Amino acid sequence: MRYVSTRGAWREDPQPFSAILLEGLAPDGGLAMPQAYPRLDAAALAALRPLGYRDLAHAVLSLFVTDIPGADLKALIDRSYTAATFGSDEITPLSTLAPGLHLLHVSNGPTLAFKDIALQLLGNLFEYVLGKDGRELNILGATSGDTGSSAEYAMRGKRGLRVFMLSPHERMSPFQQAQMFSLADPNIHNLAIDGVFDDCQDIVKAVSCDAAFKARWKIGTVNSINWARVAAQVVYYFKAYFAVTRGGGDGVDFAVPSGNFGNILAGHVARQMGLPIRRLILATNENDVLDEFFRTLTYRPRATAQTCATSSPSMDISKASNFERYVFDIVGRDPAVVRALWQRLDTEGSFDLKGTPYAASVAASGFVSGKSTHADRLATIRDVAARYGVVVDPHTADGIKVGQEHRDARVPLVCVETALPAKFAATIREALGRDPERPAAYADLERRPQRCERLPADAARVKAFIAAHA
Ligand SMILES: *Cc1c(COP(=O)(O)O)cnc(C)c1O
Repeated sequence: MRYVSTRGAWREDPQPFSAILLEGLAPDGGLAMPQAYPRLDAAALAALRPLGYRDLAHAVLSLFVTDIPGADLKALIDRSYTAATFGSDEITPLSTLAPGLHLLHVSNGPTLAFKDIALQLLGNLFEYVLGKDGRELNILGATSGDTGSSAEYAMRGKRGLRVFMLSPHERMSPFQQAQMFSLADPNIHNLAIDGVFDDCQDIVKAVSCDAAFKARWKIGTVNSINWARVAAQVVYYFKAYFAVTRGGGDGVDFAVPSGNFGNILAGHVARQMGLPIRRLILATNENDVLDEFFRTLTYRPRATAQTCATSSPSMDISKASNFERYVFDIVGRDPAVVRALWQRLDTEGSFDLKGTPYAASVAASGFVSGKSTHADRLATIRDVAARYGVVVDPHTADGIKVGQEHRDARVPLVCVETALPAKFAATIREALGRDPERPAAYADLERRPQRCERLPADAARVKAFIAAHA
């Protein structure tokens, strides 16, 4: 399996997995995509059905990772997906709320959000690939909460890797801050920036645009456009499909709360591989860029100033980074069309697929969408608690709300639980008048010693810190 860019780079020279693993954007600004999706027929699916999570992950990921010896890849997977890290050997267990209505638990990892599924594997893949030729990498990132902690828990103690994570000073929830700042590993550096999240992101951009500094200090990222993250997430769509069907090719619907389009893109990839997914039900919060696209076929990213802070904060996005991969498939994988559309985004701020030949491909891709507001979230958290005795987090509630709107009683509906409610206690209190349960391991989290480096919103100061600690 080799990889090309959505905008045409590497066409004559498709790249192996290990080469795209450590890269952010392709040289032409596009995203890495497999040259073609592996296709699984009914017999191949039947062979995967009985496998446990680790063997299933190995079977699926082997199709995308063909330049790491099978036994090595298996060892990396076995080390990433353990009962100690994810709470059970099922890794992503499924529970049934009512006949035909299920919850897929992908948020039982160390930071209680689904990003751990991909990042735990990424940490081990990075260490392996760098270790092969004695290279090092300094990961620079900006976080408003979930991604940063997930990256730090995945990279802590890894050889050849250091993390420099910028966060806005005193703007994360106490739980999120304690999760990151209580890590004592010497390769983890938390930089609390005097500013907001956008200031942090601007600094990361400024540092990454300094090519000489980037090369000298071997700066890399772990952002959501990393292909390995998408591939790792494909596995739990298979796992859930097998958990709710008996074979025979019957379809399943998935409801997925979406922000950067990474999670649900993995569902799209699984569907392209032949997994009988009928519908991918995409839920947004008040920041409804993606719902607007699937309703109107117009993609209109927002300005940062038009992005509102909501009670499902991990979906507060102005543009969906991974969406370009889906569009690449929709336009028949023609990089010239992708280039033209993204050029139109630059000049006109939006593009419209209505009335084009691509409208039919969108319709055939199985996506439907909807939007959920703060009031919907609270109502859904209350309703699910009252009916089923289960407390769900605000993001999961957005998915359940929109999933119910599109529900077909003849088709099993799997709602993806993307975080545990313990992370978002304030909204749970507002909905239910009580605190969410917290996993025992986190009981004393906010009381643990914390450390961070406080810096002004100044790229030069951040560079100096990296140079002194890399
Ligand atoms: C990141 C995140 C999302 C959004 O996922 P995308 O892959 O960006 O669409 C949803 N819920 C939670 C809890 C998250 O952390």
